[in-house]
Amino acid sequence: MRISEIVKNLKPSATIAAAAKAKELKATGVTVYEFTLGEPDFNTPDHICAAAKEAMDAGHTHYTPATGIPELKKAVAAAYKRDYNLDYEPAQVVISNGAKHSIHNVLTTLCQPGDEVIIPTPYWVSYSALVELCGAKPVLVPTTQESGFCLSPEQFANAITDNTRLMMLNNPCNPTGAAYPVETLEGLAKVAVEKQVPVLSDEIYEKLVYPGSEFRSFASFGQDVKDLTIIVSGVSKAYAMTGWRIGWTLAPADVTKGMSNLQSQQTSNPCSISQYAAVEALNGPQDCIPEMLAKFTERREYVLKRLRAIEGLSFADPGGAFYAFFDVSSYFGKPLQGGRTVDNSLDFCSALLEEAHVALVAGDDFGAPGYVRLSFATSMDIIEAGLDRLEAFLKP
Ligand code: PMP
Ligand code: GLU
Repeated sequence: MRISEIVKNLKPSATIAAAAKAKELKATGVTVYEFTLGEPDFNTPDHICAAAKEAMDAGHTHYTPATGIPELKKAVAAAYKRDYNLDYEPAQVVISNGAKHSIHNVLTTLCQPGDEVIIPTPYWVSYSALVELCGAKPVLVPTTQESGFCLSPEQFANAITDNTRLMMLNNPCNPTGAAYPVETLEGLAKVAVEKQVPVLSDEIYEKLVYPGSEFRSFASFGQDVKDLTIIVSGVSKAYAMTGWRIGWTLAPADVTKGMSNLQSQQTSNPCSISQYAAVEALNGPQDCIPEMLAKFTERREYVLKRLRAIEGLSFADPGGAFYAFFDVSSYFGKPLQGGRTVDNSLDFCSALLEEAHVALVAGDDFGAPGYVRLSFATSMDIIEAGLDRLEAFLKP
């Protein structure tokens, strides 16, 4: 059959593809040290699962309103008031099938062919693909390790043209872990207002911020900034709920209306049972967040200590999320375990998987060739053994 041009050019998500490759090897009986997918290894807390069971018993197994049940929209609006002192009406909330779907909703609602979308690099693998799916053009603006992988206000201003439709900000960032300093956010917000450029602020890692860094929602820098901001977030990372597929947007009324119409045509509604679980996640006890964060903090410190001790690797310390993103290019062209030599990150990851059974994601699809991503959202046992193997792979 003829496949459309736009889909023909679409590659599978690099993170999901890397995880699938690791699973294939695992299926042959090999023990694989898996650091690919960015998803908490913890199970969803019991009280949240109990709320889902109650929802099923209560017969909440039907279609819901297209943009989500009123209880969940109210819970989202209340959480932003409680956590960030931001005032949103429940009517400004659209619940969708995960934050990835929310991003697609925003892009489809705002972008059309000829539009440009500014994306600081390194960026999460799906950003450019989702922009291209709308026929718009990703404008990639490289950030540097020295700047902690943060886009500067000057870089933002310089990338704006008459065709700029949106800037996609990811704070804290996947894959770099960059947690933007408040003054940088203020500077970016000033540029957005001066130039009237809307900002999609992907804040999915908002609760995963480490000592020394601070999270501020992009919408919190004044009403004029809030009017230009579309917040994207969800329950996947903060509450270990990746499989439930619940994300949301908080947006100005006209954008919300567009996304509502889109979603009613496109998916009818997000899963009813997951929505009730998400209500409990937001309204119920919040202790699970600091508990999981404490574990991630411990793992982060360990991973960074080990990576620092390996000569030739370099990185910026991640202030948030659960990734270490490091430059391995000094190893290109040098003999590695098994006598292999590689000259790019993709081959580096393949060799590492084949020789040492350690699975990482290559930086190329994050817009950062030469780098690799390690997700430390996995157990300390796996982290310790995986880093031993990485070290041995590099120093055969
Ligand atoms: N944004 C970023 C930066 C992510 O890393 C992810 C990955 N999960 C998402 C959005 C999508 O999250 P969800 O599971 O809610 O679709
Ligand atoms: N966001 C996660 C990651 O980067 C999940 C996989 C995906 O949706 O791409 O690994």
